[in-house]
Parts: sequence; structure tokens; C-alpha cells
Amino acid sequence: MSNYVEELIAEVKAKNPSEPEFHQAVEEVAESLSIVLERHPEYRSAKILERIIEPERIITFRVPWVDEQGEIHINRGYRIEMNSAIGPYKGGLRFHPSVNQGILKFLAFEQVFKNSLTSLPMGGGKGGSDFDPKGKSDLKIMRFCQAFMSELFRHIGPNTDIPAGDIGVGGREIGYLFGQYKKLKNEFTGVLTGKGLNWGGSLIRPEATGYGSVYFAAEMLSIRNETVEGKVCLVSGSGNVAQFTVKKIIELGGKVVSLSDSNGSIYDEESINQEKLDFVMDLKNVRRGRIKEYAEKYKNAVYTPADPEMDHNPIWDHKADCAFPSATQNEINGKDAQNLLNNGAYLVSEGANMPTTLEGVKVFLDAKILYGPGKAANAGGVAVSGLEMTQDSMRLPWSKDEVDDRLRMIMKNIHTTCIQMADRFNTPGNYVNGANIGGFLKVADAMMDQGVV
Ligand code: NAP
Repeated sequence: MSNYVEELIAEVKAKNPSEPEFHQAVEEVAESLSIVLERHPEYRSAKILERIIEPERIITFRVPWVDEQGEIHINRGYRIEMNSAIGPYKGGLRFHPSVNQGILKFLAFEQVFKNSLTSLPMGGGKGGSDFDPKGKSDLKIMRFCQAFMSELFRHIGPNTDIPAGDIGVGGREIGYLFGQYKKLKNEFTGVLTGKGLNWGGSLIRPEATGYGSVYFAAEMLSIRNETVEGKVCLVSGSGNVAQFTVKKIIELGGKVVSLSDSNGSIYDEESINQEKLDFVMDLKNVRRGRIKEYAEKYKNAVYTPADPEMDHNPIWDHKADCAFPSATQNEINGKDAQNLLNNGAYLVSEGANMPTTLEGVKVFLDAKILYGPGKAANAGGVAVSGLEMTQDSMRLPWSKDEVDDRLRMIMKNIHTTCIQMADRFNTPGNYVNGANIGGFLKVADAMMDQGVV
């Protein structure tokens, strides 16, 4: 690590205590950028990186709401408006009890680089609440979403800040949030993405992150003249990203053998076919049940409950060619990364944001496997959100094929950018450096053009 990076990280830690995920995200990016800053002292003297790591604005607010029994609940809401150098703030909302300012800052920071990589004009942001939607009635969800939007609406807008979904925020929540925004502002605009198809949404948006992560994997494999066909794949999570990752892998002839949720994971050696995936989608999206039920229905599958005391995650300890972590941050630690390699995996495409710890990243980079970091591999979701914004502005919806073709092209271009940037800065094949540098340069140049603001 260079002195500059070491000093920068020390300052980030001192200024932002108790935000370990944010420190981790900054450290990974700063390490990649040290060579860029050496070659371009103008970025250093303009303190571009120091400015990027300081959010332009953080909004924190009280979310009081009343449930159907008349009980009052108080949650905390956030929106981190991280960087608007290349476009309005754009990034998802996360509803999960673990949400805090540090987690949202890491996500907003990652989002800045990811959005830049898509080549669309979108700045970076992220938001959410410590509200836990799990097991709550539709009425509770609606009341919470309305209370959350009753404050957020004054800070966002179709040209200012355009939130979308993330963990715990899917089509249902976006609907309630949009309804409340429309009522308060008395205007129908594309202020949120991930909307329903009948009211301004885009075809392929629900599929986009999962499909994009598999398209990115296919691009990485093409470097070795290989395809997804026949590959044994581990997928974690069982939410939006995981479901459409599985769908695309099945379509391309791969074999998915695992899924998980926060209570545990399933391993199905016979692989998950379309019928089993339909069961999972009904289980998770309609009945809102637990992945354990998969092993109750399909007897050959093995269910392993999650054990936080374990020093590794058993989902990554199976024979496989490829891994698609699609649940949450830091779900692959150093030991998990080593387990994946020992079991033959040579491709990791991150559907989730920062699913690999710094130790795990080092294991993958040292082994020189095909390792696609989240800000490149999962950029398909925000890319199609960008395409949803375009369709909303034109007031003209595109066909499924048109959006899917554009998504595929964007993922291909991101892959090319990663390869070219890694080459240009003397680390061929290093997608982490490629993505961080590729994402940074566009934002940095825009900030240079716009002066110290
Ligand atoms: P989701 O639909 O809410 O699904 C999340 C999945 O991950 C669920 O199966 C959930 O299990 C599991 N999970 C969440 N927290 C966990 C934890 N602490 N330990 C173990 N499992 C956990 O969310 P999603 O949209 O698929 O998002 C998944 C990941 O992709 C996140 O990292 C998100 O930031 C990233 N991402 C999403 C998008 C997008 O378009 N949605 C775009 C880019 C990146 P439970 O149901 O038990 O909580």
C-alpha cells in the first residue's frame, strides 16, 4: 500500500468511526487508484478522491408510523447523496434491520463508480431504513412506505435524485413509495425506477441485475473461449438478483446447485431446473416463505441452517466451476474464497454489492481467477434503471428485446472497459483495478471540469 493510500485510509477511519463497511469499500478503491494518482498528479492536487469519499449530502430522518393495531413505531430513514458530477443521484433503497449510515455510505460510494461504468449519465446515491419488512402484512408495509416517503419526497425528484429498490425493496414497496410521492407532489414523473409496467416501469428491470451478472460472467468466460453451458454454479441469496441469475444460467445451459436466505442454504446436486425455480419464485415473491421449504419439497436437496459461529459459509464449500454471490455484503471471507478455489471454482461474478471481504478479494486476485467485482458485474440493474428513466422522459416504452439487447451491450462494454483499464495500468486481467479505474476517470474528469463545488 502506498503512503498516500495509507494516510487516506487512516483519515477516513478517524473521520468516520464505526463504519467498517465504508472503510473497506474506500480501501479497495484507493488501492486500485494509487497508480492512477501517481500518473495523474492533477487529480491528487485537486483532491478528487478526498472529495469523492465525502458525501455531497446526507439526509437522516425520523419515520413514525402506526400499525393496524394502533401501535406507534419509529424507524430511521436515510438518503446518502454521494456524487452528482455526471448526473442526478441514482441508487437503491434498502429496508433491512442492519441498515445504518456506514452501510449506506459504502453502497453509495460503490454506486458512484458503478453508475459511471454503465456510460449512462447517473451520479451515485443510496438510501433506506432499519425497517424490517420480513413477515409484515401488506398494510404495515404500505403504512411504513408512505411514512418514509412523507419526508423523502422533499429531497428527491426526476432531475435531482432517483431512488430504486435494493434488499427488502421490490415491486410492492416501489409501488407504495411512488403512490405517496405522486400524491404529495401532484405530479406523475419517473422519480423512482423499478416501477410497475403499467405505470412507467421498464421491461427487463426486475431481471436486469441477475441477467447482467450472468452476461458479465459469459464475457469473462469468452476470454478463455468458454461459455456458461455445462458449468456448475453456486448462487447465494434467493431474492431478486439470485432468482434472475438462476433463470439466465438455466437458459444458457448451466447448472445451479445452491440458493440461500439469511436462515440457511440449500444444496441440490441434481441442479435447479425451471420448475424448481418457479417454486422458489412463488415461495419468495408470493408466499414470502423460507428457503428451507425447498428441501422439504425436493427431498434430494440438503438444507444447512446458517450458523454465525462458524468461521466459513458452507454454501461456498461445494464442487463448482462458478460462484454468483447474490445475497449481501461480506458473505465470502478469506476462508470461503479458499474453499471455492479448492473446490475448483475459477469464476466469481458478484451480483451482490461487496460480497467478498478484502481478504477474500486478495485470494481471488492472487489466484488470477476470473473475478468480476460487484460494481462491474451487478451494474446491469442500475443500467436498466437508467434506461427506464430514458423511456419515462420520452414517454415511450421499449420492447423486451430492445431493453435486453441494450443491457447485454452495456455489460459487454463494461467488461471491455475493465480489460482495457487493467491493461493500461499494467495489471492485465485484474477486473477490480479495471472497474475502479474505469469508473473513477469519468467522474474525476467531470469534477475537474466543474470546479471545486
Ligand atoms: P432481496 O430481493 O431483498 O434478496 C436478498 C437476499 O439475500 C434474500 O434471499 C435474503 O434473505 C438474503 N440476505 C439478505 N441479507 C442477508 C444476510 N445478512 N445474510 C444472509 N442472507 C441475506 O435483495 P436483492 O435485490 O436480490 O439484493 C441482493 C444483493 O444484490 C444486495 O447486495 C444488493 O445490494 C445487490 N444489488 C441489487 C440490485 C437490484 O437491482 N436489486 C442491483 C445491484 C446490486 P432473507 O430473505 O432471509 O433476508
